[in-house]
Amino acid sequence: MKLRTKGIPVNITEPLVIKATRFKFKLTDPNYCLILDENDPINEENGSYVLLTTSADLNKNFMGKAVFRINELSHIFEDDILLIGQTGQIKTLYRVNSRHNFILLTERCNSNCLMCSQPPKDRNDIEFLHDIHKKLIPLIPKNCYELTLTGGEPMLLGTLFFKLLDLIKIELPNTEVHILTNGRLFAINRYAEKLSEVNNPRIMLGIPLYSDYYQTHDHIVQCKDAYYQTIMGIHNLKRYGIRVEIRVVIHKLTVPRLFKLSNFIYRNLPFVDQVVFMGLEITGFTLANLSDLWIDPYDYMEELERSVKFLNERGVNAWIYNTPLCLLPESLWCYNKNSISDWKNIFFEECQKCAAIDKCGGLFASSTIKHSEYIKAFQIDPT
Ligand code: SF4
Repeated sequence: MKLRTKGIPVNITEPLVIKATRFKFKLTDPNYCLILDENDPINEENGSYVLLTTSADLNKNFMGKAVFRINELSHIFEDDILLIGQTGQIKTLYRVNSRHNFILLTERCNSNCLMCSQPPKDRNDIEFLHDIHKKLIPLIPKNCYELTLTGGEPMLLGTLFFKLLDLIKIELPNTEVHILTNGRLFAINRYAEKLSEVNNPRIMLGIPLYSDYYQTHDHIVQCKDAYYQTIMGIHNLKRYGIRVEIRVVIHKLTVPRLFKLSNFIYRNLPFVDQVVFMGLEITGFTLANLSDLWIDPYDYMEELERSVKFLNERGVNAWIYNTPLCLLPESLWCYNKNSISDWKNIFFEECQKCAAIDKCGGLFASSTIKHSEYIKAFQIDPT
């Protein structure tokens, strides 16, 4: 799915966060830009608002702001929210027809996980992105069901992180806010306390824990003491009643202790709100470390089944994400969630003849690089 496009900018002197429309009557609201069809005339009247067009040229009398000669605009829907950059880059920040919207708070991180899907970049993007998100959040429809805040590590925003959460609470009081963090900075109790002061019960933190054994977790995260900081962070957060989800990415380094990790969670962290076991996405650092990480999901199903059942039987909600239905034993289907974001979700050719395609979450787009040998269409609907 396309989220970016590009054209030639005219008079775009600063990044614009703006909603898209194809209807001129909406332009009384200055938060809109107008998408023109190729054949629509560009006249001087158009100069009073921002224009986006695939046309090859603009009228020479045109004085307004525009991006022309854009490769493609068909992926932008009515009321989608865009970021238009000075170089003519157009990035879709929010899609009204999707439930998988996310805000990338920073590309900086204090961990360096072996399978990071968004490899950290050491450049200070925090204030620049914060300025964009401050403009974005009030434009998001109030009926937005869920918003994911991700990074990098969101906590590296410091006070700006809490300011953003305050803004979300005011502007989007009914939205579920899922924050993906490594949780390490919550080892400092004051940060957990500060998050509780935001007082938004719709916040849930997704925190990765890769092993019950500190050296394995620290190795995967590539940071000394990450394990102790994460465990302490989870304890601090739960002390203030903040919802926490533990995220376990399943790969060759986590599979051997998967059941022991489940046991550890049950005995030491039974108060977490849920545990999710997640299939590996073949992107980012995973590509570079593929031989160390790849294991065919078929080969860890027994371990996964033991772990998921163990937790659920003891009252800890455990789910399976990012795993095609045909790889799971029937006994695990009830724990499976179709979790792959729509913009990176695909189905193979084999899936087109599958009787369960409507119930299956499919695969990551990056699965074309590496995937299980056992993807196999169901001949009859198995459910
Ligand atoms: S064949 Fe495709 S659609 Fe069918 S269960 Fe497997 S991954 Fe899902």
